[in-house]
Amino acid sequence: EVVLSVKNLTATVDDAPILKGLNLEVRSGEIHAIMGPNGSGKSTFSKVLAGHPAYEVTGGEVIFQGQNLLEMEPEERARSGIFLAFQYPLEIPGVSNLDFLRVAYNSRRKSQGLEEIDAFDFDDLIEEKLEVVKMNPAFLSRSLNEGFSGGEKKRNEILQMALLEPKLAILDETDSGLDIDALKIVANGVNQLANPQNATIMITHYQRLLNYIVPDYVHVMANGQILTSGDKELALKLESRGYDWVLEEAVEVG
Ligand code: ADP
Ligand code: MG
Ligand code: MG
Repeated sequence: EVVLSVKNLTATVDDAPILKGLNLEVRSGEIHAIMGPNGSGKSTFSKVLAGHPAYEVTGGEVIFQGQNLLEMEPEERARSGIFLAFQYPLEIPGVSNLDFLRVAYNSRRKSQGLEEIDAFDFDDLIEEKLEVVKMNPAFLSRSLNEGFSGGEKKRNEILQMALLEPKLAILDETDSGLDIDALKIVANGVNQLANPQNATIMITHYQRLLNYIVPDYVHVMANGQILTSGDKELALKLESRGYDWVLEEAVEVG
């Protein structure tokens, strides 16, 4: 089953072309890694998928679970099962993390035609999910992301993901700024959550994360396009040889 189909996607920021004909197909059960040099458009791609207003789609199509994603409001995208951690406000003073998670969870349930979860049942559920990310329950009573360390924010992303059980999770540089223990916890969370019914896109500048999460496909993005794709061996080759050879080969072919 195709979860996400991106065809010839082009997008601009402040009239500057950033995505220049991006193609990608993701099926359920797959983990894709998108790598590439800084400034290649990786974050732009994830923001376009999220429906960020600063990014204008100028061509191509994005089909998510058979629906035209580009016609959906950002909230609708989230409700329909696409998960992007940064879609959520960075800090909301006065709103506890627990309250935030409950609202997000209930909104996802509503879109699935389900009733709001009973508060006690939610407490049980969240306890189970905390275990996935090895998070201290005290963390839930703090204001959303206020004063969270970099590592705590990243873990909280995985907690949100564990709770919302998205059809497609897109993690943009979830590994950046994590020490090795936090990286392992995050990777372990992603691995536990991946199943034959969902799909994951990991965007990362470094191959480090891929030591812990084995992708089915590795794509190299440069200059707003996916230049080449392969399996995990490609990531190792990138680590030892850098990105330049990909760019050179693409020029020869192109
Ligand atoms: P990556 O995530 O691969 O490092 P980005 O998608 O963040 O790349 O950036 C791609 C290009 O788009 C860069 O040249 C960057 O400067 C530009 N860009 C991204 N966001 C904006 C923005 N809001 N305004 C202007 N330029 C932007
Ligand atoms: Mg960058
Ligand atoms: Mg980026």
